[in-house]
Amino acid sequence: MITEKIMDPFDVLKFCPKCGKSEWAAPRPGYRKCLACGYEMYKNPTIGAASFLFDTQNRLILLRRAKNPGKGLLGVPGGFCEVGESIEQAVLREAKEETNLDIKIEKFLFSIPNNYEYKGIQLYPLDFFFLCRVEDLSPLQLDLNENSEIVFVDPFQVKTEDIALESIRQGLERLKQIL
Ligand SMILES: [Zn+2]
Repeated sequence: MITEKIMDPFDVLKFCPKCGKSEWAAPRPGYRKCLACGYEMYKNPTIGAASFLFDTQNRLILLRRAKNPGKGLLGVPGGFCEVGESIEQAVLREAKEETNLDIKIEKFLFSIPNNYEYKGIQLYPLDFFFLCRVEDLSPLQLDLNENSEIVFVDPFQVKTEDIALESIRQGLERLKQIL
């Protein structure tokens, strides 16, 4: 297997998107300024929405991922926030897209920075975790492109190594402390 080097976003964008030159002042990580035209670039976090979704019997709903990263392991309903969308809207939309369920946000829990490689490029997500509830499971229909299976678990029985992403592992540990 060929191991591809994971590229930093600034390495991918070698040339200034405004003037096309490639001379940068980079006084601190995550920031650089084009010496030719003054165009400034920031490495901003990508905002991720994640739900710890419970049904009315207090079972935690996890999804077995059909895609990398973490293919075959368990994740939670969620995804990246789109432009113009609130994080709350992203939570509800992602759950609807992935499961066809209409969920309710009970409260915001915490945010956790994550490292996430996507198609060879390093992303810097900041995942916002929400405690959510679903009352009616009857509309359940998985988007099989995203997830292969839905599982209902006791959050205290889930094995850490079965969880797909580092931020979700950390989030689950924090969730267990407040349940
Ligand atoms: Zn420039």
